[in-house]
Amino acid sequence: MSQRTAAWTARALCAQPPYRGVDFFPQPNDQRSTAKAVAVCADCPVWRDCLTDALRTEGGSRPEYRHGIRGGLTGYERYASYRRVTQNRRRARQAAAR
Ligand code: SF4
Repeated sequence: MSQRTAAWTARALCAQPPYRGVDFFPQPNDQRSTAKAVAVCADCPVWRDCLTDALRTEGGSRPEYRHGIRGGLTGYERYASYRRVTQNRRRARQAAAR
């Protein structure tokens, strides 16, 4: 998350009392905890803001340095999303330069 707390974080489901017991930083092989966290994110009204913030702050970090479930995605899934976006931007720039 950004250094200044963004307004959307007040609406984050993971910060609400009923969900405080959910583990948003499961071990990579803990599929059960991962699925529980992803299910909470699926109902979260600010998942888009959360995912955008994660992709922005993590930048080009390798997947093993992307911790926890954010915006409904694991670190490996966010890495794949980041790669897709950067490749699409590169292709668009190359196409525009032709
Ligand atoms: S999308 Fe998930 S991790 Fe992000 S704020 Fe919502 S509940 Fe929390």
